[in-house]
Amino acid sequence: MPKIFKLEQHVADLIAAGEVVQRPASVVKELMENSIDAGAGIVTVEIASGGMTYIRVTDNGSGIAAEDAKTAFLRHATSKLRDAQGLEAIGTLGFRGEALAAIAAVSRIVLQTRQPCADEGVALTLEAGEVLDISPAGCPEGTTIIVRDLFYNTPARLKFMKSDRAEGSAVASVVLKCALSRPDISIRFIKDGKTEYHTPGDSRADSCIYSLLGRDIEAGFMHADISDETVSVSGFITKPAASRGNRSYQFFFVNGRSIRSLLLQSALEQAYKNTLPAGRFPACVLYITIKLSSVDVNVHPAKTEVKFTSDKQVFDGVYYAASGALERTRSIVNAEYDMQGTGAPEKTQSTKHRAQTGKIGPAAGGGFRSMQSDEFRSAYISESSKEYKEPANPLFSLQPDRPDNAPHRDRSVISLDYSKAGSRGMPREALPREAKWADAQSAPLQSTPDFRVIGEALNVYIIVEYQDSVWFIDKHAAHERLHFDALMSGAYEPMSESLIMPVICRFKHEDATLLLENEAFLDTLGFSVESFGEDAVAVRHIPADIDIGDTEYVLSEICAGLGQNGTAEPAGRDNIYKAIACKAAIKAGHASGISELEALAVKVMSGEVSHCPHGRPVAFEISKSTLDKGFKRI
Ligand code: ADP
Ligand code: MG
Repeated sequence: MPKIFKLEQHVADLIAAGEVVQRPASVVKELMENSIDAGAGIVTVEIASGGMTYIRVTDNGSGIAAEDAKTAFLRHATSKLRDAQGLEAIGTLGFRGEALAAIAAVSRIVLQTRQPCADEGVALTLEAGEVLDISPAGCPEGTTIIVRDLFYNTPARLKFMKSDRAEGSAVASVVLKCALSRPDISIRFIKDGKTEYHTPGDSRADSCIYSLLGRDIEAGFMHADISDETVSVSGFITKPAASRGNRSYQFFFVNGRSIRSLLLQSALEQAYKNTLPAGRFPACVLYITIKLSSVDVNVHPAKTEVKFTSDKQVFDGVYYAASGALERTRSIVNAEYDMQGTGAPEKTQSTKHRAQTGKIGPAAGGGFRSMQSDEFRSAYISESSKEYKEPANPLFSLQPDRPDNAPHRDRSVISLDYSKAGSRGMPREALPREAKWADAQSAPLQSTPDFRVIGEALNVYIIVEYQDSVWFIDKHAAHERLHFDALMSGAYEPMSESLIMPVICRFKHEDATLLLENEAFLDTLGFSVESFGEDAVAVRHIPADIDIGDTEYVLSEICAGLGQNGTAEPAGRDNIYKAIACKAAIKAGHASGISELEALAVKVMSGEVSHCPHGRPVAFEISKSTLDKGFKRI
């Protein structure tokens, strides 16, 4: 007795349908994709009861010929693909020829369609995949498909449906993505008789975003565009101040198809590293265009995932589009200054550094440098080994101001200048960062806008007048960022102080050993430690701008960073530098002299810093018009 039988066709169809049609949202997605593929300029989607009882999709696209109407509902029937070769470069959203068959298998359908060239259209009625009626019909150009009673014949599936409200919002989310994917199509979504979305279809991404995501999101976006011969990325990303608490507003479209992609998400977030605090995420609407043959869309039944021939190419595209846009916001003040006819400012060290190393951002001509494979791997594959590439910052040091203006430090110290050869017996040449620093010092000074420091409020905020605005700068955050950048870029020159009485810091035995083993690294930071029993170290030197009382804390952060990866790895180093920058920065609440305030303001107003290493903004602007509005002058 044979035990293996071929399934009856309609059971096979039901099984296949289950892959494509999981809930009302999947039906809406497939029908909207068909409308888009049909070249429609206007699409209306209407649902009732979360789409469980009623779904209608109407378009003004190419329509279906009467002779093809029945065939469209057969499995593997499509007008979009002819042969295996066609699979290599799919330019339509649909290609599997499965959707109409799958939807029809599990619902009651009415189709009305007319091609623009035809005098009359055709109407088709189906139930559970069976054609009940086909007849000529007078109908407008384009296609309307009505799907009723989804899963009425598959009770097992019906049981898994959520509430109408939940299904309705899943539909709304699908409509939203389809509508965002095509700003050139006017899309209306009606839910239980009420219009939820209506996009203008004027081909403008910003007006499309505004109508779908609302004013707040749209206002928090800035342009991000980049392209080279392999990939083009354009659209919008979040201004750092408008970050979100989750990733639900990250939208990626590849050749017009909305996709989920960890790769693209990482590329975006990598660009925001050290700009956003932990737990905050950028939003984006990014349109990525690549050669059709460079992407495989045939990897997922619902076509929501794709494979790229080169992950790195698209990663680079998104990363550089976003980091370029972020970089531009940082130098916006410079740009304004430039526009006043003062001539092109001299190249800043940061742009010079980038141009030389090619590490960050768009290159001249709108193209961009591709990451090295190892850079890419470390950026994408392992969050913890992402490499930080902020520009070198030669102008960091506020030291010249210190003797007169810095808060007085009441401690017995002898200053050691590391920039002179032979500090603590270590030849200056042996310090690995020397070369970079020398290079940095010869860089031209950054041009600075013409602003006026008004003073300091609350011992925290520097108040600056610049053009038609008043700026508030958080002096601690700004200083912290400068310090951090200097550490990261290797431009940091520790001003070490020798402590007359060594500070004894207690650690676990392993940590004490770790510190002693990494003497050279500690040296670059301005610390020197000696063994002091099993579980303590004696600290002989500390950087001049760290309070003695913070020594143990900073060393314990260094231990944590070293323990994480060792000195060579950037993730641990990031944290070490953040801790040092934070403790070395001028404290909020501590009065500063005017030249110290001015020195900081120069850095911020020239666009060198915009966010502290924890992602908090360093400055914000209140325009005259905002002030005038507040006083009801306008
Ligand atoms: P696919 O989209 O993968 O080709 P479908 O089952 O979704 O498969 O659709 C089958 C065919 O029906 C399509 O290839 C297309 O020719 C036709 N069709 C479906 N919907 C529409 C529509 N709204 N307008 C014009 N033609 C359509
Ligand atoms: Mg389709």
